[in-house]
Amino acid sequence: QQCLERQARYCGLNAFVTRADATRIQDAARRIADSESDLTSSTLAGKTIAVKDNIVTKDYPTTASSKILNAYNSPYNATVVDKLVSAGALICGKTNLDEFGMGSHTRPIFTSATKSPHKRNGQALSAGGSSGGSAVAVATSQAWAALGTDTGGSVRLPAAYTGTVGFKPSYGRLSRWGVIAYANSLDTVGTLTQTVDDARQIFKKLDEFDHMDPTSLSRTVRERIAGQTTDWSSDRRLRVGIPLEYNTASLSPEVRQTWSRLLMSLQDAGHSLHPVSLPSTHQALSAYYVLAPAEASSNLAKYDGVRYGHRTSGPDANPKDSLPLFAATRGEGFGPEVQRRILLGAYTLSSEAMDNYFVQAQRVRRLVQMDFDNVFALHNPLLDAQAERSSDTANVDVLIAPTAPTLPPTLAEVEKMSPVEMYMNDVLTVPASLAGLPALSVPVKLQSGAKEPEDVDFVGMQVIGQFGDDSLVLEVGELIE
Ligand code: GLN
Repeated sequence: QQCLERQARYCGLNAFVTRADATRIQDAARRIADSESDLTSSTLAGKTIAVKDNIVTKDYPTTASSKILNAYNSPYNATVVDKLVSAGALICGKTNLDEFGMGSHTRPIFTSATKSPHKRNGQALSAGGSSGGSAVAVATSQAWAALGTDTGGSVRLPAAYTGTVGFKPSYGRLSRWGVIAYANSLDTVGTLTQTVDDARQIFKKLDEFDHMDPTSLSRTVRERIAGQTTDWSSDRRLRVGIPLEYNTASLSPEVRQTWSRLLMSLQDAGHSLHPVSLPSTHQALSAYYVLAPAEASSNLAKYDGVRYGHRTSGPDANPKDSLPLFAATRGEGFGPEVQRRILLGAYTLSSEAMDNYFVQAQRVRRLVQMDFDNVFALHNPLLDAQAERSSDTANVDVLIAPTAPTLPPTLAEVEKMSPVEMYMNDVLTVPASLAGLPALSVPVKLQSGAKEPEDVDFVGMQVIGQFGDDSLVLEVGELIE
């Protein structure tokens, strides 16, 4: 009831593409309350969870905020949705995103932009993106928690901008079956919650092998991970790495101060700080914006107006010449940012550009992974033998750095940004994505506090761990939240 009321009250923030269906959600709640199974004791029983609109659901349409999937109804649920439902959760609507997850401020072109509940000097702020709808739904208690997807930061950035907790698990732990692909080698289902413990509860329910997802981590790898994760006890002294390359010139003073204050407080509590270098960070963003569009151009080729979704009203399907139908459908159905990425991806995959762009970007991706493997104490469970390490390894447990270079910009400022300026905002989230590492964004209080109740009085801080060390990342997140 509270969820329905709050969704009506906050509808002006456009967190949802499709809001909760009252009858459906009440029926489901009643079924759970009446059930005699163990369901009522499940930690998620009766909890309202919103789902980003690029994750398919039987009960609600799935649009990825694109005209090309206008009114598309999936005949099946994504595995993550099925798992939530069987744990007794109530799916309470589909949340807004940048079209197909491509963007950082949840400003889809065909529907309304999501607004943050926070303001600066009375001006509306960006909710971050692309899972901005999920973040705002949680920040305003329109849902207890929400699923998002994170390809290059789309769960962590909106968490940082709205004061929520955003968790991107290691790549391959949560099933991608039923998640509309943007860049499948990077796409990861993540959560937006009010606390780290809520994120842990959901993660525990979803963290299983799924034979429907070819990139789901196998049982063998999962066993290897379980056998070697970093032990945690509350009196443990952590070795915290400070990635020096993340201290970019673009960090705003509030962000830099909050970061150093957090590190000092960890040191005061007995943990040790270790400056570390991840030299390939500088190339990571460029590599991401070659690889992600390349995969997108291939993944989005299936939207042709024949199989599903939007179809132009002009030319008809003609087996001899399908180009007019495809071109018109895709020209109408995709917004400008998606078209830009398809063009960019098709170019970097073309025979004359492949070696200079795509292949180089794959090399950079490997270097980024090696940088991380070099600083973590834990061995990467995806690599067979202990990889060769340079002699000055820092052996840290986790890395701590800001999630975004600045506090959220106003929507008016976002309006004036060029695409490249927009891409720059992902500089601190993209490296962990390229390496598939678990990363969590937690809000940390600003020292100056808030003057007005709607002011932003938090900075998103990111905890990054070795591949598979998700539980340690969550523990450390709880320590600093
Ligand atoms: N902003 C990044 C992009 O546009 C990340 C998006 C995401 O993680 N889905 O690609």
